Amino acid sequence: MINLANLEVWFVTGSQHLYGEATLKTVAEHASTIAKNLSDSPEMPCKVVFKPIVTTPDEIYRLVQEANQHPQCIGIIAWMHTFSPAKMWIRGLQILQKPLCHFHTQFNRDIPFSEIDMDFMNLNQSAHGDREFGFILSRLRLERKVIVGHWQDSSVQAALNAWTRVAAARYDWQGARFARFGDNMRQVAVTEGDKVEAEAKFGYAVNGFGVGDLVARINAVSPAQVDALVDEYHEAYDVQATLQKGGQHHNALREAAKIELGLKAFLEEGDFKGYTNTFEDLHGMVQLPGIASQRLMAEGFGFGAEGDWKTAALVRAAKVMGAGLSGGNSFMEDYTYHFEPDNAMVLGAHMLEICPSIARSKPRCEIHPLGIGGKADPVRLVFDSAGGKALNVSMIDLGNRFRLIVNEVEAFDPPADLPKLPVARAFWRPLPDMAQGCAAWLYAGGAHHTVYSQNLQTEHWEAFAAMFGIELVVIDAKTDIRSLKNELRWNEMYYRN
Ligand code: MN
Repeated sequence: MINLANLEVWFVTGSQHLYGEATLKTVAEHASTIAKNLSDSPEMPCKVVFKPIVTTPDEIYRLVQEANQHPQCIGIIAWMHTFSPAKMWIRGLQILQKPLCHFHTQFNRDIPFSEIDMDFMNLNQSAHGDREFGFILSRLRLERKVIVGHWQDSSVQAALNAWTRVAAARYDWQGARFARFGDNMRQVAVTEGDKVEAEAKFGYAVNGFGVGDLVARINAVSPAQVDALVDEYHEAYDVQATLQKGGQHHNALREAAKIELGLKAFLEEGDFKGYTNTFEDLHGMVQLPGIASQRLMAEGFGFGAEGDWKTAALVRAAKVMGAGLSGGNSFMEDYTYHFEPDNAMVLGAHMLEICPSIARSKPRCEIHPLGIGGKADPVRLVFDSAGGKALNVSMIDLGNRFRLIVNEVEAFDPPADLPKLPVARAFWRPLPDMAQGCAAWLYAGGAHHTVYSQNLQTEHWEAFAAMFGIELVVIDAKTDIRSLKNELRWNEMYYRN
């Protein structure tokens, strides 16, 4: 569902006319070679498009205008192979509406010691050309990502890859639609927020829809569609015997499939990229969507429970950033703790809705009672998540700004069998350790709902926060509580307005 291959990052190289036509021709050849190689690199998720060298204020202005309006352009990579006097860039940069990566590279990796002369020096001078460009970006207070190193270096390409994925997620949010079935869970604070500010800041719209409209769409699903999806469930999962054909709960499985089909149809017909629901508003629904929300997340839809639209949008952004990478991204909730000395950890889960993209083996499809919601027992996928590096991300609304909180965690395979736990789950220990990680999260005001990611790093979220100009708080191995509390205090001053 999420395909980044047709998106474009524009490779823009600045220069000037001082050097003569021959040099400019070489600059263009070099830039075109770099752009083509990056575009062909398996490291890059989308196209890197070479743009003609810009040498005048008008050329720069027109190129930025074009980038702003181009429907597939998600951002600009800028490089000053030669010196490009940066006052030429002021007008263009002032209208730039897409993310900017300042790529500080050089065509030659090595200095040709025995051959180097002044012609070489005049051609390969990004070492100072890019400093002129960096100055004007700082002078204009423009946000950008700086990536330094030779363009063929794998770590440099990995950094470009990460930035490009973030730019794709930002692009995906522009004009995105998220549906809310029912409002916020009554009295819950952290899932609330300013949807007008979110639309202005992030570009996505969140709107409510009557659950009755969704129920009507579910009821319009045909038995043949249900048959086909039930077959797919049997193919993809270990389906509990009582849910199988002839089993006492088979009708519940059919009902779950019908809910998934109706929900998906509603989302696709309305061009929605994600949704929220709440167990407090399920009028006319037979079950709370369990397997439906799990599978829709796996297809790339954002999801937030209890009306949590900020997390639904964030799950979607993670799905875009992580598209095609191994490992998954899921809606998550810190559920319960294991406080064993020297082996403390968090058990993360939700009532039902954890994405099977983080499953470490084939999920089981089961039915169990649910204590809340007052509906029929819901069908859900049950599985464990694998150990390894992971992170939790939360977006909160502080009234005058959004804060993005990232906590790096060490995840674990399940430390024991959990034969009576009827939901999907993950185990992790927050960095720097259980006590400090949890304390830092609480001081920062992080929500109980998060995006749990196996395939994104802090680097992605750092660029993400920067592209939207929002506050970022990182809790990692280096976090020290006293410093963190100071950082939060200082951020209060920085964002005061
Ligand atoms: Mn919840």
